[in-house]
Amino acid sequence: MSFRKLEGQTARWIQRVQEYNFTSAHCQGRKHSNADALSRRPCQEKCAHCHKVETRTEVKQIRAIGTLPAAGWDPVTLREEQLEDTDIGPILREVENGQRQKWQDIADRSPTYKSYWAQWKSLAVRNGVLERDWESATGRRQVAQIIIPRSRVKDVLSELHGGPSGGHFGVNKTLNKVRQRFYWLQARTDIEKWCRQCDTCAASRGPRTRNRGQMHQYKIGAPFERVAIDIAGPFPRSYQGNRCLLIAMDYFTKWPEMYAIPYQEDSIIAEVLVANFFCRFGIPRELHSDQGRNFESHLLKEV
Ligand SMILES: [Zn+2]
Ligand SMILES: [Zn+2]
Repeated sequence: MSFRKLEGQTARWIQRVQEYNFTSAHCQGRKHSNADALSRRPCQEKCAHCHKVETRTEVKQIRAIGTLPAAGWDPVTLREEQLEDTDIGPILREVENGQRQKWQDIADRSPTYKSYWAQWKSLAVRNGVLERDWESATGRRQVAQIIIPRSRVKDVLSELHGGPSGGHFGVNKTLNKVRQRFYWLQARTDIEKWCRQCDTCAASRGPRTRNRGQMHQYKIGAPFERVAIDIAGPFPRSYQGNRCLLIAMDYFTKWPEMYAIPYQEDSIIAEVLVANFFCRFGIPRELHSDQGRNFESHLLKEV
């Protein structure tokens, strides 16, 4: 089946049916009355409209799809690649011969081999291919997963994440899709990496937008009615022992003043403001800062 852009509902449908080995065939609407009857209002016999629609959109026979998508997925090729894999190859042979190695004898094997070895009871060779029987989390269904050699991981992910039936799902859904048919160690890690690096996904995520606070416009009536203050720093300590800058600016006149202070503390800020700003310009009716309401009320109390 091919779709120009497979997303959303259609992709989910295909994902759902892909677990089954099935053949699909198009059935003309006229002959489909058994299923359609449940969802359609009855038409009169030989309804002119239905007939016209059917002849106009001549639908081609849909190619049957099995559980495996394309060439290279036949049992012979799969077996070859499994045998070539340094971890999966030996396990395949051992499962096939029904001879499980003793733990003492595999001490020097790779962690990957040991992990497959530990799952011995779930492993089976069918059609020459090593598979793992897996019970879904709900325990309702058992799935035979093909053990995927490292060399094949890329193929599987490009097919299941971005292929015609991919739909560019996120990590969990892609992992879920993988599990319906395949198994390999560290699949989640591989999928996370794959999704992170997928260009299509990155493009559809778009640029990260940051939430900004709403901008307000203030109507100012008179000089030094409303004063904004801000703290800059900390900077390297000055000879006087100051590390921060206290900036105060009047909204109306835009008159700025700047004072060096040792550190950011309400009592210090209040003291400096009173001694340098308020005593010359008067106490403003409102004091603004981006430090939050707490800071402002606390500060005014200090003042
Ligand atoms: Zn009709
Ligand atoms: Zn993607």
